[in-house]
Amino acid sequence: MKFGTKAIHAGVHPDPTTGAIMTPIYQTSTYVQDGVGNHKGYEYSRTQNPTRHALEKNIAAIENGKFGACFGSGLAAIDCVIKMLNPGDEVISTNDLYGGSYRIFKTIFEKYGIVFHFVDMQNTSEVERVLNKNTKIIWVETPTNPMMNIIDISAMSKIAKKSGALLCVDNTFATPYLQTPLDLGADIVMHSVTKYLGGHSDVIMGALVTSNDKIADEMYRIQNSSGAVTGPMDSFLVLRGIKTLHLRMQRHCENGEKIAHYLKTNSKIEKVYWPGFEDHPNHTIAKHQMRGFGGMISFTLKGNNLEDALTIVKKVKLFALAESLGGVESLIGHPATMTHASIPKEVREKSGVVDSLIRLSVGVEDVDDLIEDLKQALI
Ligand SMILES: *Cc1c(COP(=O)(O)O)cnc(C)c1O
Repeated sequence: MKFGTKAIHAGVHPDPTTGAIMTPIYQTSTYVQDGVGNHKGYEYSRTQNPTRHALEKNIAAIENGKFGACFGSGLAAIDCVIKMLNPGDEVISTNDLYGGSYRIFKTIFEKYGIVFHFVDMQNTSEVERVLNKNTKIIWVETPTNPMMNIIDISAMSKIAKKSGALLCVDNTFATPYLQTPLDLGADIVMHSVTKYLGGHSDVIMGALVTSNDKIADEMYRIQNSSGAVTGPMDSFLVLRGIKTLHLRMQRHCENGEKIAHYLKTNSKIEKVYWPGFEDHPNHTIAKHQMRGFGGMISFTLKGNNLEDALTIVKKVKLFALAESLGGVESLIGHPATMTHASIPKEVREKSGVVDSLIRLSVGVEDVDDLIEDLKQALI
């Protein structure tokens, strides 16, 4: 089955009691049993809920995986993966990781004896340099935020397989419409469903997908034992969101491409970061592992002036100044003072997050209106 068909049909079926075509919101904590141990597959909603179950099957299907699990947030999904480890185990990750992922690794799990290494994953020898017999997880995020760097998933998979580590890919930015990491050798795919999968900026949720039975057992055991599950109402909203994921992503990609090219021609702009450009340092890898380049774009201003950047993010009218991404509406952000404010200036500047860097999450509005908006703000 192809992507758009799976997005609409996988995991869902008309309600057998009424014929309702949409999956009902099973807003219930428990399920009546006919006799002790004689139930219909559902005992308690932390463990299993029919609306969440439909969504978990749907997300697994669009990621070309067998098993899906949904959590109360993207970070709760990450929490589940790291809880599969034991003290002394090591994780290798990228040095321009999503800030919240960095925070949970460093401030929550380090004190339980798990060791984290952050390296430039665009360079495979950097990963091999810190790899050792205790390495249990290689954690990849690609494209990265906000610099839009691309990490070679197949190359990371080869390193992981050779050393017996698991490869986990945060696929939030690309979505399975553009990139399916399990097909490229990943063991686990992670999502902040909050972003493109939900797609309407109305839900906080996370998900994991795997095809490995043993990992799935661990994943469901931790999901049930730690209890960071998502509710039936939110599951319903995301099931609805995913039905248009392919349509939205097509438009995000089209709009993203037009805006990236427009920005490149604007005389105020120094550099545009978007993996679709042929001169992007990892364009070849992006072309190989992605089916499109998405709607996330970053750019810097000539003169690299903080005030200029702050003026622009205030002057836009259609682009809303906000954190987050992946919704139908366009957002604009200033990483140095917003998402990356907690990182020391010298450290963030090393990875390219300079004072004039601006990040766009290009929505699915009419692109001419978006370009007009940027034009008037960039005068
Ligand atoms: C937002 C985000 C997360 C965290 O997800 P939440 O749903 O906010 O908990 C993790 N990774 C990436 C790449 C994100 O953009």
